[in-house]
Amino acid sequence: MSTLKLGWVGLGNMGNPMVKNLLKGGFEVTVFNRTKNKEQALVEAGASSANSPQYLVENCDVVLTMLSDDKAVKEVFEGANGFLSKPYPGKLFIDMSTVSPDTSRYLSKLCSSYGMNFLEAPVSGSVKPAQDGTLIILAGGDNENYEKAKPIFDKLGKLSLLLGGAGVGSSAKLAINYLLGLNLQGLAETILFAEKNGVNKQDMLTIVNEGACGNGITKLKSASILNNDYPAAFALKHLVKDLRLAKEAGLNYPLISPLSESYNNAQKQGLGEEDVMAIMKWLEKQ
Ligand code: NAP
Repeated sequence: MSTLKLGWVGLGNMGNPMVKNLLKGGFEVTVFNRTKNKEQALVEAGASSANSPQYLVENCDVVLTMLSDDKAVKEVFEGANGFLSKPYPGKLFIDMSTVSPDTSRYLSKLCSSYGMNFLEAPVSGSVKPAQDGTLIILAGGDNENYEKAKPIFDKLGKLSLLLGGAGVGSSAKLAINYLLGLNLQGLAETILFAEKNGVNKQDMLTIVNEGACGNGITKLKSASILNNDYPAAFALKHLVKDLRLAKEAGLNYPLISPLSESYNNAQKQGLGEEDVMAIMKWLEKQ
């Protein structure tokens, strides 16, 4: 049983299984989610519920966030009843959402101006690694805060790395999601091209997955492709955000623009809430 009392904001596809692992790992966790009914299953699993983010700051040693985007994270820190509405010097905040490096640097400075500590810790890996506790945690911040967070990370992931100061972890996260976007768009185009020319989906997926081009993500997404069913593990709208953030952070190689455009168009066609692999559905119509 850890003595650190944890607060957690954001119980979406990722936050929910991550908190479950912290409870299983012996942490006392108090949760807050904007949509309250998403807290129910975790309360049944042993979590307590808070009525505001501010309550977590008052009552917990470390407060973690796993929220959609930069705007949501800033609102939870700076909004009414947010973390900073009544500062408690010495508290540690860990943001595990995928946000821009600039937002992480901004929050790090802001927290420090109140005598509070901030560590960014976005994750590589989707819902299954979140459930299995095998995420890869990409931290940015001070070593002292990282060491304090390490027992928490050990319950959430198979690996955590302190990559540099605030912003460096987010940059690593945007870089790996660029590769994810390329992989999935490439897989979708490959399967569709083969199918158009008489190769069935199952056979083409076997060729990909049994050969040198197969990888963890091509294997993970094969069932969805075969069933033409894309329930969100990693919602397509989040990759649209991540590619935009990568571009804004200076990623300007030849494939970023067509890749962003492709996922953007899929989102405009109403596929934003489906899994990122639903890019297949949009490409199929081209
Ligand atoms: P999600 O299922 O869409 O959940 C988003 C969470 O943010 C929900 O709890 C939502 O609350 C909350 N939220 C959004 N706007 C808010 C606001 N203005 N104020 C307070 N709460 C707000 O997202 P997710 O898939 O868990 O992803 C979370 C983060 O991790 C994202 O940055 C994503 O890019 C990143 N990520 C996701 C994956 C993945 O595979 N899913 C993998 C790695 C990283 P409500 O319940 O009230 O809507």
